[in-house]
Amino acid sequence: MERILVVEDNKTLAKLISKKLSTELDFEVDVAYNMSEAKLFFKRYKYFLALLDLNLPDAPDGEIVDYAIEHKNRVIILSAKVDKDFRNNMLKKNIIDYVNKSGAHDVNYIIQMITRLHKNQNHTILIVDDSMVFRKQLQNMLENMFYNVIAVAHGEEAIGILHTNQNISLVLTDYNMPVMNGLELTSEIRKTYNKNDLSIIAISSSLDDDTTALFLKNGANDYIKKPFSKEEFSCRINNSIEALENIHAITNHASRDFLTGLYNRRYFFTDMQSYFEKAIKENENFAIAMIDIDNFKKINDTYGHESGDKTINSVANILRANTSQNDIVSRFGSEEFCVALKNVSSDKALEIFEKLREKVQNSVLTSTRGEEIRFTISIGVAINYEDTLEESINQADMLLYEAKQNGRNRIVHN
Ligand code: GH3
Ligand code: MG
Ligand code: MG
Repeated sequence: MERILVVEDNKTLAKLISKKLSTELDFEVDVAYNMSEAKLFFKRYKYFLALLDLNLPDAPDGEIVDYAIEHKNRVIILSAKVDKDFRNNMLKKNIIDYVNKSGAHDVNYIIQMITRLHKNQNHTILIVDDSMVFRKQLQNMLENMFYNVIAVAHGEEAIGILHTNQNISLVLTDYNMPVMNGLELTSEIRKTYNKNDLSIIAISSSLDDDTTALFLKNGANDYIKKPFSKEEFSCRINNSIEALENIHAITNHASRDFLTGLYNRRYFFTDMQSYFEKAIKENENFAIAMIDIDNFKKINDTYGHESGDKTINSVANILRANTSQNDIVSRFGSEEFCVALKNVSSDKALEIFEKLREKVQNSVLTSTRGEEIRFTISIGVAINYEDTLEESINQADMLLYEAKQNGRNRIVHN
C-alpha cells in the first residue's frame, strides 16, 4: 500500500489528518512530530507524498520542506498563516500545494487534493512547445502533479504521438511554433478527437482576445495566458482533467449494467452494429451467443434474491475473465447474457463457450445462510452470418431455447 507522511507537532491535528487519510483514502499514514523523526521515516520508506508543517520544534523555518524536496519527495505544506508573501515564497519552492490548516474544511481539501493527485497517475499529458526551456518547465510542473508527460517540439510530432498513443488525456499547446502553429494543431486534432475524449489547452504569451476566441472556436477547451501563477496553472489543468473524467463516468454509466458492471443491451447494439457491418465486408468470422442461467428461479426461491444476484455476478465474472478485451460481454436482462466473440474461427468459438460452460458448472458459491450453491448455464451459439445483427441474435436465442429443451447445461450451435 502507498504511504503518506504527516509531519506536524500539533498532535491533535496530526491525528485528525492521519485518521481521515487512512479511513477515506487507501493509504498507510505515518506521523512524525518533529524533523528528526521525519528524517528517520524518510530514510525508511518511499512516500507518495509528505504533508509538512513549516514550524516544528527542531525546524522552525520550514527547513523540513527543503530537506524533503532534496530527497525527492513531493510536498504539500501545512501552514497556519497564508498571506501574499508566504504564498510567493512557498510557490518558488517545488511544492505541489499549500493548505491553510485552520479547520475541518481544510482537512477535506487535503483529502480532495490527494484523491486528485492519485488519479492524475492515470492520465498522460502531451506538451507541444518549440522552446526547450519552457517545455522542461511545464513538464516538471506536471510531473510534480503526478501526471505522465510526453513533450514534443512541433505540431507534426504531436499528431504522430496522438496516432500511436491511445491514452492521452490532454494536449497543452503553445501558439507560435514553426510550420504548424497551435491554432492549426488544434483544428487538426479536432478532425479526429472530440472535446469529450481529448482536452486541449492553449498556453502562450501572445494570446490576445482575438486569438483566445479563435482557439476556443477551433475546439480548445481552455487557454492559459503567460505569465501565469503555478496555482492557476495547476487548477486549470486539474479542472480540465476532472471534466473529462466526469464525462467518461456518465458515458460509462449509460452503457453499463448496474448489477454486474457488464455492458448493457444498448451498448451491445451500438458497438456490434458497426462491427457486424465491418466483419461482413472484410469477411471476418465472429460468433454471437445467448447465455442463460438454468433454473435460476429455483436459486432465487431456495437461497433468496441476494444469493440470486450473487449467482448472476459470478456468471458475469466468469464470462468476462475468460474472454478477451475486444469481445463484448453484456447482460441483456435478468439472468440472460449475450456474448460476441470477435475475429474467431467457429472451432475456437465453440471451444471458448465450452470452457465457459464448464467453468460455471464447476464453480460453487455460498448462500447467505451458508449453503453451497451450484449452477449451470445453457448456451445458444450463432456462428454463420444472418442478414442483420438482430437476426443473428434471434438465431442464437432459438438455439438457446433448443439447449433448454434438450436438458440444459449444454451448447447448441448452428
Ligand atoms: P430456465 O432454466 O428455463 O432458464 O429457467 P429459469 O428459472 O432460469 O428462468 P425464468 O425466466 O423462469 O426465471 C428467471 C427468474 O429470475 C425470474 C425473476 O424473478 C428472476 N430475476 C430476474 N432478474 C433478477 C435479478 O436481477 N436478480 C435476481 N436475484 N433475480 C432476478
Ligand atoms: Mg434461466
Ligand atoms: Mg430466463
